[in-house]
Amino acid sequence: MPIMQVEHISHSYLGPAGKLEVLNDISFQVQRQEFICIVGPSGCGKSTLLRLMGGLITPTRGQVYLSSQPLSGPRQHIGVVFQKANLMPWRTAQDNVLLPLELAGVPRQAARQRALELLKLVGLEGFEASYPHTLSGGMEQRVAIARALAHDPEILLLDEPFGALDAMTRERMSLELLRIWEASRKTIVMVTHSITEAVFLADRVIALGSQPGRVHAIFDIPLQRPRDLGLQYGMLFGELAGQVRAAIG
Ligand code: ADP
Ligand code: MG
Repeated sequence: MPIMQVEHISHSYLGPAGKLEVLNDISFQVQRQEFICIVGPSGCGKSTLLRLMGGLITPTRGQVYLSSQPLSGPRQHIGVVFQKANLMPWRTAQDNVLLPLELAGVPRQAARQRALELLKLVGLEGFEASYPHTLSGGMEQRVAIARALAHDPEILLLDEPFGALDAMTRERMSLELLRIWEASRKTIVMVTHSITEAVFLADRVIALGSQPGRVHAIFDIPLQRPRDLGLQYGMLFGELAGQVRAAIG
């Protein structure tokens, strides 16, 4: 059974010039423990699609299902990370991760323990007491990922989480994300505008076209795991990236 089904989703926004159709008849399924990347040109509706999958907005037509249940709003089983980490500046790294647990009424001691484990998982052991302004962009995003994992969601949705980072940090974060994914056995759906990043990370890449956004193609990425950055210089990698690029057009 797929963990998530996106069935014939269309979405329109109401703007000053009338109705703007952003997504048109999008369908695909996400399997448990799969790593999916969604790529497409800027403005094609990637963020809209991810917000629909997170239950943060409701589609104009169609339906999203989480474990076969119609999704009608945000769920604790779905963790979301955006391009900006949006940490609370007056809270330490640990207290930022603690926040969703506090709001859920998890007992203090258990919540603190869980926050420590999550910070360790994302590679921030030793930075529990650090404030966001003392952390690098990559570290802030790790805190945001740890926070999104606080409720032990079944599926993690990431919207260009490394978009604001420099190329080197971005590559390092890709490797970190693969490690976190392998260690936590989560399902991940990540939006990125980088074709290389998508092919490097994903089991499958969904290529969207624009105006309105549609699924142009879905590619299986049969590269062996674990993956290392050297893979990007191989022939198969180049072929796959070329196919994805051609599909986006
Ligand atoms: P992407 O993430 O692929 O860049 P978005 O989903 O953010 O695309 O946006 C797709 C289109 O929808 C863009 O033209 C954008 O201007 C428009 N849009 C996004 N959010 C809203 C909104 N809340 N209201 C009106 N238009 C929006
Ligand atoms: Mg976007």
